[in-house]
Amino acid sequence: MQKDDCLFCKIAKGEIPSTVVYEDEAVLAFEDINPMMPVHTLIIPKDHYDNIADNVPADTLGAVFGAVQKVAEIKGVVADGFRTLANTNDHSCQTVHHLHVHVLGGAQMNDGNPSK
Ligand code: AMP
Ligand code: ZN
Repeated sequence: MQKDDCLFCKIAKGEIPSTVVYEDEAVLAFEDINPMMPVHTLIIPKDHYDNIADNVPADTLGAVFGAVQKVAEIKGVVADGFRTLANTNDHSCQTVHHLHVHVLGGAQMNDGNPSK
């Protein structure tokens, strides 16, 4: 199910252009428009869920997280490492309320302590 007024649903349908990294029947991975790292790719389910806490079916979660390795291989960041994150609601600063996983890499990151 998709949502008419959702940016990432529009990207999933091809109504808004994106630079596609990987696609299968369940997910689309595309380059973040405002990259925070040399590698910054987003993975979304084609169906709309607000975030990871929106009763996402296990097969959808499997498809999204299963695409992480594929994207990391395509982007060439497996050996050096990468970070995967999914923001949920206000405290995490989620800005687009369609479930997405960030794949970040291509340079050294800090240890990820959010208090730093
Ligand atoms: P979040 O803050 O976790 O909700 O992440 C939303 C991400 O979507 C941000 O990193 C934005 O740069 C990215 N973004 C917003 N609009 C687009 C777009 N049209 N194409 C690709 N990425 C986008
Ligand atoms: Zn959506």
